[in-house]
Amino acid sequence: MAEPKGVWRNLLQTETTNLPSETTNLPHKCPVCQKNQVHEFLPLAPYYTENLRNYGFPYKPEEGETINFEQYACPHCSANDRDRLSACYLRERLSQYSVDEQVLLLDIAPSVPLSKLFKEFKLTRHTADLLTEGVDLVVDITNMSEIASDLYDTLICSHVLEHVNDDKKALSELYRVLKPRGWGIIMVPIILTLDQIDEDPQVTDEAERWRRFGQFDHVRMYNKSGFVERMEAVGFVVRQLGVDFFGESAFKQYGITNTSVLYVAEKVEITELVMTDENI
Ligand SMILES: [Zn+2]
Repeated sequence: MAEPKGVWRNLLQTETTNLPSETTNLPHKCPVCQKNQVHEFLPLAPYYTENLRNYGFPYKPEEGETINFEQYACPHCSANDRDRLSACYLRERLSQYSVDEQVLLLDIAPSVPLSKLFKEFKLTRHTADLLTEGVDLVVDITNMSEIASDLYDTLICSHVLEHVNDDKKALSELYRVLKPRGWGIIMVPIILTLDQIDEDPQVTDEAERWRRFGQFDHVRMYNKSGFVERMEAVGFVVRQLGVDFFGESAFKQYGITNTSVLYVAEKVEITELVMTDENI
């Protein structure tokens, strides 16, 4: 049984210790809004579950990697399970920057619950999207020519690439705009039982997209190795952080399934990796 290690164990214990005594036995807590009165996370909306069923989506909920159909949304801030998984990591990693550092974050297709979390940290955040109104940058993720190379310290791009026809170009753009040693959280829907990425640009029928790709506006369904290979192909070093990293008790408390994995893409030069290995 995996239990949290190091900073994660300390983080969890600190949070538990700080809870009022009458709430310490509550089963859940949201790591995004940090409300500890979360008795139950809310299930995925019927709009999705009914469409998946009606259009014949062939995969069972447990075949999805990071998706908790039963405990999907926080009743306080609406953070979904992948927001909560991201928050676990973001809270720790963003706190590692010194107060003197100017941290620049690119937030693509920004999540409203995580937007509030980012305000807790001293960083400059640029929101970006092609279709959402009110963002700082209206950009096509496959051609972000408005953005200089090597600009951002960090980025988040969660559940965007499955909407994008040329995800390889998008990934190369994400790599380009990150500073050397920059990092990002990049997440997509993944079916663990798929052998390869299922994609076909000819499929534009919404019913067929629901059936094959899980949503009317998705253009592919990823398998795990295919997603990792596409990130690595543009230069990223990919870290996969799951239950062994965060701990089973944290996943249970935060309503995250044990199959869930956070993908952290690091822009690390190969020569730097070699030097690091030699130093070890
Ligand atoms: Zn919440």
